[in-house]
Amino acid sequence: MARDWLKGAKPSYDIVVVGSGLAGMTAANLLSRLGHRVLLAEHHYNLGGLATWFKRRGGHVLDISLHGFPCGMIKTFRKYWTREIADSVIRLPGIRFDNPQFKLHTTFDKVDFTCILRERFGIMKEVIDEFFETVRKMNFYDEIVMTTRDLFEKFFPGRKDVWRFLMEPITYANGSTLDDPALTYGIVFSNFMSKGVFTYKGGTDTLIKQMKKELLKNGVDIRTHCLVEKVHVEGGAVRGVRINGRDIACKSVLSNSNILTTIHKLAGDEHFSPEFLDEVGKVRLNNSSCQVYIGVRKGETIDYVGDLLFSSDADEYDTEKILGKNVTSRTFSFYYPSIRPGTNRYSIVASTNARYEDWANLSEEEYEADKKKLIEDTLDSLEKFVPDIRAKVDHLEAATPRTFKRYTLAPGGTSFGTKFEGLKISRDLPKQVAGLFHSGSVGIIMSGWLGAANYGVIVANEVDKFVRSAEPRPPLATISA
Ligand SMILES: Cc1cc2nc3c(=O)[nH]c(=O)nc-3n(C[C@H](O)[C@H](O)[C@H](O)COP(=O)(O)OP(=O)(O)OC[C@H]3O[C@@H](n4cnc5c(N)ncnc54)[C@H](O)[C@@H]3O)c2cc1C
Repeated sequence: MARDWLKGAKPSYDIVVVGSGLAGMTAANLLSRLGHRVLLAEHHYNLGGLATWFKRRGGHVLDISLHGFPCGMIKTFRKYWTREIADSVIRLPGIRFDNPQFKLHTTFDKVDFTCILRERFGIMKEVIDEFFETVRKMNFYDEIVMTTRDLFEKFFPGRKDVWRFLMEPITYANGSTLDDPALTYGIVFSNFMSKGVFTYKGGTDTLIKQMKKELLKNGVDIRTHCLVEKVHVEGGAVRGVRINGRDIACKSVLSNSNILTTIHKLAGDEHFSPEFLDEVGKVRLNNSSCQVYIGVRKGETIDYVGDLLFSSDADEYDTEKILGKNVTSRTFSFYYPSIRPGTNRYSIVASTNARYEDWANLSEEEYEADKKKLIEDTLDSLEKFVPDIRAKVDHLEAATPRTFKRYTLAPGGTSFGTKFEGLKISRDLPKQVAGLFHSGSVGIIMSGWLGAANYGVIVANEVDKFVRSAEPRPPLATISA
């Protein structure tokens, strides 16, 4: 008989959190700390969403999204998780660019960027200072008129080399392009510039294990292998959910599932106004990713070549090329033993932005052949930096947009939720259905580890307020409470 993953679950909770990405987990933790009865339902066997890892024979542990995050994550971990978690954040000092326009090393902070912009690119100090001041002041509540292209034209007209230096890492970090609102660039860029790029000592596996411990300590009922199939709405308000075929009552649902899935599939279009659905129809998904995981054989070592390497063969920064299936640009993340102290193991993860459509409709043979090509091309590219890599590797594996879709259920396997317009939809959800909230990668700025976790906090506070003021309701007929 199939295992009952909901065994012992209560017939009702105050709040059901759908999905355990960093937004869902952070929100569940905070809501439980605030005294609510919280069920966290995750369809996958692991918690973490995209903040995840996997193990392979040969002692390999491979991280998916641990390339780097801004220092703000330390404060978020300390305030909403634990000091122990915050204390494991370490800085990555060696960021590297290698492309036909320039090759350079940087600590990826304002001081070093200022120096490089002056000495390497010959930009005047006053222009650099004004640029930094302009992006630092960008604010979520600003009127959005300027695009990132406008911003660069204003400060560095015609300087495509400077545009690439400033933009390429942010495109990798949140999928934004020159034609997105400058705000989506400015906030993320400034976050990194304040102190550089950070990672988690111990790896994603350690982080998620520590988070799980904390969630359980705070009383969250965690259920993996639990797919939320439906959010029950009655009289314009949330009444419960259906999980693995079982109905569970709740006062509020905080969905960490993709915003479009939350509306169209979990709640259902019939619960939203036509005007709202018109706006929902305009929301574009963000791009997806491909990754190649390179496991270095036990006992082998690789010399230090930097922590994060933005490599590209393209003549200049070009979003179309970055997304193209004929890969020209890759971010290599090098994991040395210092990331997982005591293991003495090395691994490398190559990431590229990608389009779901390029991978979605391939036959199984084409799909396997294209994954093989992706791996081979990646090794060819990596040999430039680690010449003997092929001799040192005993595990190679590729993930595509199809892989990301399968594990996160995100439409189009999107890596960063939606484009900017998704944020308003996410914010307006509870105005359409009382008690229905959304949090998670959305709108480019609320994405990445820091954006997702902080958005989880913002929405958790709104859920708390809603649940405290909610009127008691009689049980719903469809819910077998
Ligand atoms: C290849 C790649 C590399 C990245 N690298 C970095 C990086 O270095 N630094 C960084 O800051 N960010 C990085 N990111 C982005 C970052 O990982 C994400 O923005 C962030 O982790 C997303 O968190 P989230 O809360 O939005 O949820 P997600 O991680 O999308 O998780 C959502 C969860 O909800 C679950 N779920 C969905 N629907 C249901 C349902 N109906 N029932 C039950 N469960 C459901 C999913 O299984 C999933 O676990 C990367 C992303 C990718 C794809």
